[in-house]
Amino acid sequence: MDVGHFAAEPGVISAAGRPEFEYNLDLALEVKAALERRQVDVRLIGERGDYAVLHQRTRDARGADLFVSIHHDSVQESLLPRADEFAGFSLFVSKLNPKADKSLACAGAIGARLRAAGFTPSRYHADPVTGAPRPFADEANGVHWYDNLAVGRTASMPSVLVEAGVIVNRDEERRMRDPEVRRRIAEAVAGGARECLTKGS
Ligand SMILES: [Zn+2]
Repeated sequence: MDVGHFAAEPGVISAAGRPEFEYNLDLALEVKAALERRQVDVRLIGERGDYAVLHQRTRDARGADLFVSIHHDSVQESLLPRADEFAGFSLFVSKLNPKADKSLACAGAIGARLRAAGFTPSRYHADPVTGAPRPFADEANGVHWYDNLAVGRTASMPSVLVEAGVIVNRDEERRMRDPEVRRRIAEAVAGGARECLTKGS
């Protein structure tokens, strides 16, 4: 369980001025607890905000069955004035990951659980106007291909990056700070991860 970003470069600054790293840490701790309730052993990476080198995260995850990186989303700089129009979760996997099929299966399971819990895929990352673009790998479940994703490409195990919500959107930022919303997201991520780990390779 990787806490995205680090103290010196804490990621997106939210609509309320709070750095992404703090949202990532809160959610990662909640997902860790939800996994442990499901008898899954969890190793936290980056929770002290001291991981500046991305490939050291996947290196230090060696031996794990699944690498999950927790993030919160933004939009391209030119779209920031319209940030309140963008909301939802996104999941990213790399075709360059040695276990790309399993990565996709785990991301799909997490996305399905998030949808069942009432959350909606953001979709805009697949749009060439509003995204990079990252084509859909599993459109229904909000999973995109992002082949150069460092934590996808350098992991020796299946790897999924979770963008839980868009924190430059004022309403969504408030939702992401709500402990009940965070608990529901964590349950969905843990449930999906547990399900795909149980299914074997
Ligand atoms: Zn991030």
